[in-house]
Amino acid sequence: MSGVVELVDLAKYYGQNPAVDHIDLRIEDGEFFSLLGPSGCGKTTTLRLIAGFERPDSGAILIDGVDQAGTPPHKRPVNTVFQSYALFPHMNVADNVAFGLAYQDVPKAERNGRVAEALERVHLSGMGSRKPTQLSGGQQQRVALARSLVLSPSVLLLDEPLGALDAKLRKALQVELKRLQEDLEITFIYVTHDQEEAMTMSDRIAVMTEGTVEQMGTPSEIYEAPRSSYIADFLGVSNLMYADAVGPGRVRLGGRELGCVDRDGATGEVTVSIRPERVGIHAPDFGGENTLVGEIERVVFAGPLLNVLVTVEEVGTVQVTVPNQGGSFPWDWPDKVALQFPQDALRIVSETGTATEELEPEYHEDQEV
Ligand code: ATP
Repeated sequence: MSGVVELVDLAKYYGQNPAVDHIDLRIEDGEFFSLLGPSGCGKTTTLRLIAGFERPDSGAILIDGVDQAGTPPHKRPVNTVFQSYALFPHMNVADNVAFGLAYQDVPKAERNGRVAEALERVHLSGMGSRKPTQLSGGQQQRVALARSLVLSPSVLLLDEPLGALDAKLRKALQVELKRLQEDLEITFIYVTHDQEEAMTMSDRIAVMTEGTVEQMGTPSEIYEAPRSSYIADFLGVSNLMYADAVGPGRVRLGGRELGCVDRDGATGEVTVSIRPERVGIHAPDFGGENTLVGEIERVVFAGPLLNVLVTVEEVGTVQVTVPNQGGSFPWDWPDKVALQFPQDALRIVSETGTATEELEPEYHEDQEV
C-alpha cells in the first residue's frame, strides 16, 4: 500500500463555521481523485488539512494507514502544487526544482540526475538555466510540478493548478497531467471548481457543498445519476422540473403521466431532471411514449451543437441540445414539436420541487453545454 489517503470524520471550523464538516473519504493508491465544488465549499481547506498546513478540530487523516496528526507538513509523504506556482524568481528553473532536495541530503550528482529527470517528465529539458520570468504561465506551472515530483511524493495535492491559464492551454495541460499521473502511478488529489476539468481527468470525484460531500463516484456515475438537484445543476446542464410522483417510477409532468427513474419511493411534489442531450425532439404527431408537446421558443447556434428552447405548458422552458449536422434544423419559432424523455434519463432528483427557472432565471447564450 502506498498513497492511500483516508479522512475519518474530519472537521475544521473557523469560529462557529464549519469549513470542513465531518467528512469521511477513502482515496485509493494511484487514483486521480478530484474535490469539486463552488467557491467556499471547503475544497482548499480539505487539501490543506491533508498537507498539514491546517490542524483539524476533530477526526483523523491517515496516509497508508498512518495517522498524520503528529507529522509536520514537510515530513508527510505528500507535496502540493498551487495555482500561483510559488517559484523563486531569483533562481533558475533547475535550482527551483532542486530546492526541495536540498533538505533531503541528496548527493549532488544524484540531485542533478533527479532534477533532469523531473524536467524531462514535464517536457522542459534544456530550460534549466532560464529564470521563471522567461517562461510562459504554462511552463512555470510545469516547473512547479517538477519541483513537487522530484521529491517522489506518494500523494500529490493540486490546488486549482491550471486556474491561471487560458482555456486552450488548460485543456492541453489537463491531458498532460492525466497522462503524467498514469505514468507515475501516484495518487493525485485535485481541487477544482471546474466541472468539465474534473470530469475529463478524474477516476472519481467528490462533489462538495458547505463543507460536506454531497455525492461521490466516477464522472459518469455522477453525471448520469445525479443524486440531488444541486448535483444535477452543478455538473453539466440539466432541465429541472416540478412534477408529482404518482407511483413507483411514475410522475405526472405537463399534464401527462411519464415513466422515470425512481428515488426511494418518493411521493408528492418532486423535482425531476433530464440532461438536454437526452431529450428527443420530433414532429408533433410523433406519438411515442413518454412525450410532451411544446412550442419552439428559440434555436441558438453553439458551434458543434444547437440549443433548442421549447416551452411546454405547465412545465416551462425545456432545453434540448442536438448535434449540428450541417443541414438546417427543421423547426423554428413558433413550431410545435414533441419532446421525448427516455425513461432511464428522466430522474427524480429531489423530494421537494425546484425548477430550472428558479436556479437560472435566464438562458445565457454563452452558457456552456
Ligand atoms: P475556493 O474555490 O474559493 O478556494 P474552497 O471551496 O476551496 O473555495 P475554502 O477555501 O476551503 O473553500 O473555504 C471554506 C470556508 O472556510 C469558506 O467559507 C471560507 O470563507 C472559510 N475560510 C477558509 N479559510 C479561512 C480562514 N483562514 N479564516 C476564516 N475562514 C476561512
